[in-house]
Amino acid sequence: MTHVWFRFYGELNDFVRPDRRARRFVHVLRGPASVKDTIEAQGVPHPEVDLIVVNGQAVDFGYLLRDGDRVAVYPPFRSLDLGDVGRVGEPPPEPLRFVLDVHLQKLASLLRLAGFDAEVREDDADIARAGGRDRRVVLTRDLELLKRNEVRWGYWVRTTDPARQFLELVRRYDLAPAARPFTRCLCCNDPLRPAAKEDVIDRLPPRARAEFDEFHTCDSCGRVYWRGSHYQRLRRFLDQALRREGPPLRSSGARRSTSSG
Ligand SMILES: [Zn+2]
Repeated sequence: MTHVWFRFYGELNDFVRPDRRARRFVHVLRGPASVKDTIEAQGVPHPEVDLIVVNGQAVDFGYLLRDGDRVAVYPPFRSLDLGDVGRVGEPPPEPLRFVLDVHLQKLASLLRLAGFDAEVREDDADIARAGGRDRRVVLTRDLELLKRNEVRWGYWVRTTDPARQFLELVRRYDLAPAARPFTRCLCCNDPLRPAAKEDVIDRLPPRARAEFDEFHTCDSCGRVYWRGSHYQRLRRFLDQALRREGPPLRSSGARRSTSSG
């Protein structure tokens, strides 16, 4: 039998049995095994792993464990520049795009709200393929889905509240600089385009017709977007989540008239 010492670092401990968190423990192998399979057997999906160090040397996922090996497993550390040498985790795809399973529909809408391409798919095989060949980051709360071999980029969403989930991603993928708020349809993920009022007026409720002059529309579903009270609430949420100031609100309804003489 092969005895191997493991230690998981940082947020990888979210996946590990409580008595094995942030400490060294011995794992017994009954036959030859790669470090990747053994890490996943501890509950940690491979897309969450960025660096594996065995006996002081960085190794890749295919490394075959030997008796007495000491294995340290690390998540991505944004603040720590390790260089590319030895990392098993790949830098996130550029541009950053996501694929989510159907249970994360609301998170997908928030990502679209911030301007990110966030597809939702139902079929696990389809999602895994998108997380490899289509160069999308898989977002899911299904650990087995993340462990699929095809998945190159993925993140297990820790929380269940959509707003908190969004904050997790802001931190994990540094979303703020790439965010383009209000440029994408919340329903179908397609980019919005500016629309002239006369072209959309028959699709507007009376109040929007009276109070607003600036509109965007989605060519796929025909929805029209304007800067009503809904917009202002979402704008506040995004500004807070992304921790930066948004552009000034410019809607005819909110314009203040001054008489400075
Ligand atoms: Zn749409």
